[in-house]
Amino acid sequence: METEVGYSGGESADPTYSQVCSGKTGHTEVVKVSFDSSKVTYTELLKLFWSLHNPGQKSESQYKSVIFYSTPDQKEEAFTSIEELKEAGVDIATDLLPAKVFHKAEEYHQQYYEKSGHCSDSAQKKQGSDDLKSRPEEFWKKKLTSEQFRVLRQKGTEKAFTGKYWNNKESGRYLCAACGNELFLSANKFESGTGWPSFDRPVNNESIEYHEDGSWFTTRTEVTCRKCGSHLGHVFDDGPKNTTGKRYCINSVSLDFEKE
Ligand SMILES: [Zn+2]
Repeated sequence: METEVGYSGGESADPTYSQVCSGKTGHTEVVKVSFDSSKVTYTELLKLFWSLHNPGQKSESQYKSVIFYSTPDQKEEAFTSIEELKEAGVDIATDLLPAKVFHKAEEYHQQYYEKSGHCSDSAQKKQGSDDLKSRPEEFWKKKLTSEQFRVLRQKGTEKAFTGKYWNNKESGRYLCAACGNELFLSANKFESGTGWPSFDRPVNNESIEYHEDGSWFTTRTEVTCRKCGSHLGHVFDDGPKNTTGKRYCINSVSLDFEKE
């Protein structure tokens, strides 16, 4: 995946930064994302966009919130995504417009964070995970459904045998429902008979975090998403003996499934 920053959506042929900032050209500051759809899907990019960006920012300036789409499929997917967030009660001012000519910004604007080590609020958010962890609960409340919020943010547990994935046998990968972080693979899923999706290991050691949980008499360890800190479930020591011996007992509602 590659990114370039620049300007788009305006009228003048070859705008400079100062012209764009004057507000007279009608351009928006944009990030052009070039991606290989076999490696990253448009859905994932939309998720990333929402997690990095404040869509409620109402502005007519070069900082307005816009998704420029390049294909009818992207338009439809972005439209659905916006509608879903609106339905979930998120305040969204994001426009959806066809991509126009992209004007690459002056070289000193490119990869600005890496060059300067600091940048605006939004550029720092792109640098990763820690920021997602410091989001106020109000952010998650808007982003998630009330059931997702209860489980992911308030460490709730869904009722056994009621979730979407406990009995899912399709192959694919399981992502954090709050931030899209990749967490588990269908290859490591097993039938535990508990009524919750069960895995014998996470996708890798960087995907989750472990916390000792003293709230029960039995030994159990809470697992959370390393990227956003959301609650996923618990890990127990009674998993399949022939593999890892671990049982990651995860709420379906904490997961999104991406079919292979
Ligand atoms: Zn997460």
